[in-house]
Amino acid sequence: MGKSIKKVMIVGGGTAGWLTAAIIAAHHKSDKPDRLQVTLVESSDIPTIGVGEGTWPTLKNTVQQIGIKEHDLFEHCHAGFKQGGKFIDWVHGNGDFYYHPFTVPLGYGRLDLAPYVSEIENYAVESNFQQHVCEAGLAPRTLSESEFTGQCNYAYHLDAGAFGDLLKQFCKKELGVEHIVDTVEGATLSSDGNIESVTLNERGEIAADLFVDCTGFASLLLGKELCVPFVEKDDVLFNDRALAMQVPYESSDSPVACHTIATAQNVGWIWDIGLTHRRGVGHVYSSDFLKDDEAEQNLRNYLGPAAEGLDARQIRFGSGHRAEFWKKNCVAVGLSAGFVEPLEATAIMLVEISARHIAENLPPTQDVMPITAKRFNQQMHYRWRRIIDFLKLHYTLTKRSEPYWQAHVDENTVPESLKEDLAMWSGRGPIRSDFDSAIELFPAASYQYVIYGMGFKPDFSLQSYLYSERDQAQRIIQRNQQLTQQMTQSLPPHRQYIEQWLASSHQV
Ligand SMILES: Cc1cc2nc3c(=O)[nH]c(=O)nc-3n(C[C@H](O)[C@H](O)[C@H](O)COP(=O)(O)OP(=O)(O)OC[C@H]3O[C@@H](n4cnc5c(N)ncnc54)[C@H](O)[C@@H]3O)c2cc1C
Repeated sequence: MGKSIKKVMIVGGGTAGWLTAAIIAAHHKSDKPDRLQVTLVESSDIPTIGVGEGTWPTLKNTVQQIGIKEHDLFEHCHAGFKQGGKFIDWVHGNGDFYYHPFTVPLGYGRLDLAPYVSEIENYAVESNFQQHVCEAGLAPRTLSESEFTGQCNYAYHLDAGAFGDLLKQFCKKELGVEHIVDTVEGATLSSDGNIESVTLNERGEIAADLFVDCTGFASLLLGKELCVPFVEKDDVLFNDRALAMQVPYESSDSPVACHTIATAQNVGWIWDIGLTHRRGVGHVYSSDFLKDDEAEQNLRNYLGPAAEGLDARQIRFGSGHRAEFWKKNCVAVGLSAGFVEPLEATAIMLVEISARHIAENLPPTQDVMPITAKRFNQQMHYRWRRIIDFLKLHYTLTKRSEPYWQAHVDENTVPESLKEDLAMWSGRGPIRSDFDSAIELFPAASYQYVIYGMGFKPDFSLQSYLYSERDQAQRIIQRNQQLTQQMTQSLPPHRQYIEQWLASSHQV
């Protein structure tokens, strides 16, 4: 039998590092003396990326499994509910919009409503109540419902720095994670290529059995020490820069948006995320198509007087991922594994999935590690391909005429796998069995909302005999109208709900 795995060292204290530490430590929590030891080392000289405020509904379960209370998350992280994304100007650029809500369509899994809706662009509205809930700025639940539940599915908007801090406190206090503040200078490899130890600036060498590289874009262990190359995807997703601003509200009772707003620009798009104490707003763009000062002007035009006196912070990034994610006894999680533009908030979701995979599959001994690594790599390659295809889908169906958008439509920039999907969908649209892999990230519903929202019309008439359930479809569509009315009348305004809920949880 190979050497036992008793000590995991996470290098990096950004969202990826602390979330990974929390997920692994919560999964392996035990009072026994031979329990797994989790150590996190972070540098006080190298800042975290400081952005990443939109999340995916998976975070709800993750936070619950770690053991953090939802009202603590809201209080510490100035969080709001995120019920989906509103995509403005992505099709024509003339004020058009569509929603990608997080609640699946009514009848999902029983009857696909797409062949029966009056206009395919109305698919999200006719099949689901959540778009109206978002447009009305409502919370997904009432005060009588308990935390982590909701009448509408949701994720969170949260202050990235505060979220890292909350996880840090929880990891140290509740989960027994050892915390070292020091800078890793390099690693010592054994003759078989495994990492034996890392060398810290002040503390010297520290050994561990598994190293998790959460060093951000630096990819210090996997990229630099183990020389795993970066696979660029900028021929598919062109954006490589972001300008981020933290924008105060006009007043303390200004409404808080309960969905991410992504507004397309002549080049790239602007995210707008509502936290309870401020908005996080940023412009993602491609430096091949837009100069930095033009991007800043776009951002200031978008914000109007709200941007006066505010500075924008520029962040540069490459689109792509490592050729392998787990090599020898080192696995990368977070930006060190890869990054593509934050259009559907997939980065934190991938951190959750990666960390859970590591926690659940952590082998007791080193000799099983190559199998764990192989399987992890297979799954992550699949997921990255799916993410890249899904993000590209948001661009490739546009009717916008600017060179940037036309370059996205150019089929030489569209992955073969996405072209195949679109060909399949031209007759019947996306269906659940297209996405029945156990490791799928987005359900068929997500693809349906996006492609129908962008006006993609499958020719259902080619096999019209398959669509003979008009009466049942009409009943579901009517039921949705009733639910829409009920929800918009009964759910409270977003900010008001959060304030009342947090105040009442203090009284308990
Ligand atoms: C513009 C932009 C917008 C984004 N928006 C979203 C979003 O809405 N939703 C989403 O899910 N994701 C988003 N992301 C991604 C998200 O920000 C990251 O996935 C997340 O913050 C995790 O980052 P990280 O922890 O991997 O890296 P970082 O935050 O960069 O942390 C790296 C850590 O490693 C440490 N470190 C580095 N080198 C050393 C060393 N030598 N020794 C010791 N420590 C070291 C640093 O001190 C730091 O603690 C966005 C990213 C960008 C660029």
